[in-house]
Amino acid sequence: MHSLIEHARAFPARADADGWHLAPLAAGQSPQVLFISCSDSRVIPSLICRALPGELFELRTAGNIVPAYSLDRPSGEAATIEFAVQVLRVNDIVVCGHSHCGAVGALVRGDDLTTVPALARWLADTTAEHDTAEHTSTEHDTTEHRTTERTTPEHGTGGPDTGRHAPGTPQQTAHQATHQATHTTADDTSDDTSDDTSDDDETALTAAVQRHVLAQLDRLRGYPAVRTRLADGTLTLHGWYYQVHTGTVYAHRPCDGTFTPL
Ligand SMILES: [Zn+2]
Repeated sequence: MHSLIEHARAFPARADADGWHLAPLAAGQSPQVLFISCSDSRVIPSLICRALPGELFELRTAGNIVPAYSLDRPSGEAATIEFAVQVLRVNDIVVCGHSHCGAVGALVRGDDLTTVPALARWLADTTAEHDTAEHTSTEHDTTEHRTTERTTPEHGTGGPDTGRHAPGTPQQTAHQATHQATHTTADDTSDDTSDDTSDDDETALTAAVQRHVLAQLDRLRGYPAVRTRLADGTLTLHGWYYQVHTGTVYAHRPCDGTFTPL
């Protein structure tokens, strides 16, 4: 903690040395992007995007979960999203999942979370949405493609299938990876090594995280403010996947369902 305090103490001088103009921020904020990510300490949106103060409006939750919109059960997350979309009028929302995510991993493995009941309840709230994401994937992909193609550079390169989507890599679709993981488990043989198992686990988690990101995007579409802004073409949704051990960011390509490097 001590080093963090020292850095915080030195921040004004450092900001000044870096040429950041903080004084105008007193007049208000007008971030262009709402960035929703996991609370995981390895994921630092402003560092990844090299965003300056005032540029990113962040929402960080365990597992980058977007709760369902409900006025009967208000949440800080829903309030944050509504404020960003309706008041700040952000142009884009990024939902960014990440590799080695403990929250999604707990869901995939079915971990015993009895000692953290609030976390268990929070995570359980997302499981039904995974099915919803599958059922609505066609509509979802069409909508996201229409909105992102116009304004986002991350989908501007790379064909529908460039051969880069090798099994076991983050580029493959969540469905492909899930099916592969299932198939591998069913065909498990005695000469499999622990490394193979580890790779399979990582592949399955990658798939789960990416599906999880898409499920959160679907939940966002259930927010009245988001729905309105999408309908009038003033808001774009993005699904990202961040690899914590390489720093690589992958973006969902609605046209073919893959996640490819930005
Ligand atoms: Zn996480």
